[in-house]
Amino acid sequence: MKAKIKKEHLSLIFDILKRSHRVIGPRLSENAIVMGEIDFHDIPAGYKDSQCPGFYRLLPGSDQSTKCFGARPSTQQVECSGSSIFSFSNGADSFKRFLNPPSQEIFTFKKSKGETLINSCFKEEMPVAFMAMRACDISALKLYDKIFLEGTVIDAGYKSLRKDLIVIAVNCTHPGDNCFCYSMGTGPEAKNGFDIAITELDDSLLIETETARGTNLLKELPFEEASEEDTNKKLLLISECIKRIKKSVRFDELPMLIYKNLEHPRWANIAQRDLECGNCTQVCPTCFCNSSYDYVQLPGISKKPFEIAGTKIRVWDSCFSRRFARVHGGNFRTSRKAKYRHWMSHKLAYMLDQFGMSGCVGCGRCITWCPAGIDITEELEALRK
Ligand code: SF4
Ligand code: SF4
Repeated sequence: MKAKIKKEHLSLIFDILKRSHRVIGPRLSENAIVMGEIDFHDIPAGYKDSQCPGFYRLLPGSDQSTKCFGARPSTQQVECSGSSIFSFSNGADSFKRFLNPPSQEIFTFKKSKGETLINSCFKEEMPVAFMAMRACDISALKLYDKIFLEGTVIDAGYKSLRKDLIVIAVNCTHPGDNCFCYSMGTGPEAKNGFDIAITELDDSLLIETETARGTNLLKELPFEEASEEDTNKKLLLISECIKRIKKSVRFDELPMLIYKNLEHPRWANIAQRDLECGNCTQVCPTCFCNSSYDYVQLPGISKKPFEIAGTKIRVWDSCFSRRFARVHGGNFRTSRKAKYRHWMSHKLAYMLDQFGMSGCVGCGRCITWCPAGIDITEELEALRK
């Protein structure tokens, strides 16, 4: 179903969603756009961001004559202006930490008097709705589904959150300077994987629904029929967005470009710049590696001896961390060169074989948030040359 609503009626979507879901979306925090639980007025309407390798700044909107649509600035340094609601692009955050928390208790254990008790920490949580999810992140979500729901082990926490997840997509009309979704085939238009997709037109929001849940939600809004002119305007906005996307990769050359160049001198060159900080893996919406440890509570003096209790905790890990490749007998990937090569090869080559889709969705986050300004598109191009 396709329809049009007034921009201010976006607030009604929040009202409907909040009856049953926590709404997670973009908001301002410490001069950046981050994801969190939001209400309509938290959307950083009118803000733009400036991004380049290793650089991120929030800017007020360019149209100073129109008032702020919604956002409550959290700091004095940035001001809100501009008539456009969704004028900003992705920040460091994505949906990832809401479906796959950075630190999660898995089970508790207790051994006492020869008896061992294990209890799952899994708890049903209130369902989540993602507001203003971009096409690249919807592709990352599809990959997460393959990893956490379609593998040999099904993740109970992910499965439970995914079951009633609502996705409100926003078609990008303001790409970030590090985005390269178009060449990866993942954006800027959300083509599926959502309940509702919003395209911001001049004075209204074009709403397209893909699921019965999305259509039912739309029917609760005061909407009007979308005209052919509205659809054409959407297509025009998307084609203009594509023209403004500055970065690209040659997706058709993957994964062979990587497989043929595993001994290329460029890997050593990258190693001279790489800091092994792991920022790229933390911000990447598709990185999923984790590790686990036991938090053990030793018996107190007053407790009977031989009682031991603790919690198994799962945390995000990174292929850049020192102990990531440590196994019995040694560490099989110690050099910086090998770590970066593994990270990039996994995304752009092995995952295509493993999951049938790329491990990179072209969101550009790893470029923006790399303190050394290492740019995956430039590194790929260097291998190609
Ligand atoms: S590798 Fe970089 S550009 Fe690709 S999905 Fe991850 S963060 Fe985004
Ligand atoms: S590529 Fe950049 S972000 Fe990733 S580990 Fe190296 S220095 Fe850190």
